[in-house]
Amino acid sequence: MPTLFHKIIRREIPADIVFEDANVIAFRDIAPQAPVHVLFVPKQDFATLNDVPADAPEIVGRLAVAAAQYAKAEGFAQDGYRIVMNCNGDGGQTVFQIHLHLLAGAPLGRFGTPAA
Ligand code: 5GP
Repeated sequence: MPTLFHKIIRREIPADIVFEDANVIAFRDIAPQAPVHVLFVPKQDFATLNDVPADAPEIVGRLAVAAAQYAKAEGFAQDGYRIVMNCNGDGGQTVFQIHLHLLAGAPLGRFGTPAA
């Protein structure tokens, strides 16, 4: 079942794409939670982080490295940023193609408390 993100990869729905290579696409989140909120998505299909094979850590590593490269290129790497991957219900995942959130542009609040 294609997700929204698969449709963005295939250019079937629009997105503000900020980075793309053979393995990864990155685009701005439609409902930003920080001044900078970009989603890094692998082009290979994995619904959740649980589905990434143990012998393929590069799938996730590429997302983190692409996010860091983007932070450096955009000039906010030294100020700092946060990367987040939500997994399944308790993690708050809503789109079931794995993705890494890059949040930056202001001091970020603490995290990890249960939802009210
Ligand atoms: P999750 O909750 O699964 O970790 O994150 C999914 C993210 O996708 C959310 O932050 C949400 O705002 C974003 N999102 C949902 N639909 C769209 C869309 O159509 N376009 C873009 N660019 N982002 C979306």
